[in-house]
Amino acid sequence: MVDAAFLGDRAVVIGGSLSGFLAARVLSDFFKQVIVLERARYPVETPAPRKGIPQCTQLHVLLTRGRQIIEDLFPGLEAELLEVGAVTLDMGADVNWLNPFGWAVRFPSGFETLSFSRYILDWLVHRRLSQFSNVEIVEARYVQGLRTTLDRTRVTGVVVRPSGTASSEQTEPEELIADLVVDTSGYSSQIPKWLQAIGYNSPEEATVTTSIEYASRIYEIPQDFQESWRGVYIQAAPPERTSMGVLYPIENNRWMVSVCATAPNCPSTEETEFLKALQNLPSDRIYNAVKRAKPLTSIQPYRPSGNRLYRYERLKKKPQGLIALGDSVCSFTPIYGQGITVAALGAVLLQECLQSIKTKGSDLSQLPTRFHQQLAKINTTPWIAATSQDAKYPTVKGINKPSSLIERVMGWYMDRLIYLTTQEPRITLALFNVFHMLRPSSTLFRPFIVWRVFRSLF
Ligand SMILES: Cc1cc2nc3c(=O)[nH]c(=O)nc-3n(C[C@H](O)[C@H](O)[C@H](O)COP(=O)(O)OP(=O)(O)OC[C@H]3O[C@@H](n4cnc5c(N)ncnc54)[C@H](O)[C@@H]3O)c2cc1C
Repeated sequence: MVDAAFLGDRAVVIGGSLSGFLAARVLSDFFKQVIVLERARYPVETPAPRKGIPQCTQLHVLLTRGRQIIEDLFPGLEAELLEVGAVTLDMGADVNWLNPFGWAVRFPSGFETLSFSRYILDWLVHRRLSQFSNVEIVEARYVQGLRTTLDRTRVTGVVVRPSGTASSEQTEPEELIADLVVDTSGYSSQIPKWLQAIGYNSPEEATVTTSIEYASRIYEIPQDFQESWRGVYIQAAPPERTSMGVLYPIENNRWMVSVCATAPNCPSTEETEFLKALQNLPSDRIYNAVKRAKPLTSIQPYRPSGNRLYRYERLKKKPQGLIALGDSVCSFTPIYGQGITVAALGAVLLQECLQSIKTKGSDLSQLPTRFHQQLAKINTTPWIAATSQDAKYPTVKGINKPSSLIERVMGWYMDRLIYLTTQEPRITLALFNVFHMLRPSSTLFRPFIVWRVFRSLF
């Protein structure tokens, strides 16, 4: 008998990174016990990059909508971030943004973001989640498959074994029973394969790749650094120029500096080449800042896999008891900074679905269908935003059709808006609100903005 206060006795989360943590936080309100299974080990004493999420050595920008959701789920987390040294940036005043049309005008925008390393966010969220008495985060556990009922209509748990040691692969796997399994195992998710193994189709898959590569390094901010800006964003201008550079301040008086580009200009991890790549950007602002700054890390490379979307909502048949969210369902070219926020929106959706089930007194049987239908809607706009930008890269793969008239008009309109950021703070602010997922893109068609675009043509 399930305790009436809960929808189930146990939920299991596969993958203990940010999507897994946010999902587990939500599940803790609806399940008696929540177990997060993570294949890697977490840092023990201080926040640090870890195995399992190699991207955490790279720059991460948390969009404001994502930050708000994380704060709602873990009240006080923002204060904790500030306490450990996260930097508050006024996006209009503190960040120099060079876009394909010139420098965006700088102005006190009141639009503030927090800047910090990716791993400090994980550390703090992990610490807060660990305080929930019904949540257990188990590291060094590799999930290798699903368990189902005999008729395979419902997933009843996972098969798991220890990981991370030489002998762990020889260890006999165990079964962990669950009323709900939530996959947040990221880009390497095995769910499509496991679905096939239990007699279902795997979901349709869309991929759009550009082969953009990253290299990042952390520097100490020199004591005598005295510029009016605190961050610099030099945007790529594909198809002509595919390289971009970012310098953002992070906790403990440091800069995170990243260069990204496609072949043949992929960034190097060799010191002179890295600096040369910064010098070759259309502005030498980042290069001039870092050339005399002290590097605190080696140059960390990363080759992201690109945009990939699994269309779980289109599966005619799905087993009960299993859903997926975060990068495991939809992952993006990272330069648009959407991943964590889309994962956070997925967690909020899960909360709404579970609350509705609880309020109606129904069971979990319809959850996978309802959840994935709604998640598909959440994924649509960020997917279009990322892939339509990537379509401009000469190296793009996965976009086979020529863009439609409407797509071309939208692309032109967006370019006009970006152009206007070099003149009009109000346009920049409207774009910040859309980029940070606080307002829908339809707000970019408000009369004063359309009028401004029209006037810019003459
Ligand atoms: C270079 C780069 C830069 C990025 N920059 C940004 C940014 O600026 N802003 C932003 O919002 N997003 C950014 N992202 C995306 C962001 O990192 C992800 O969206 C975010 O980590 C949430 O992903 P996730 O939790 O779904 O998956 P992941 O972070 O990939 O985590 C998956 C977890 O599952 C574990 N796992 C995998 N398989 C198993 C298994 N079988 N058993 C147990 N555990 C398993 C892994 O070890 C890992 O801990 C960036 C990504 C990259 C690659």
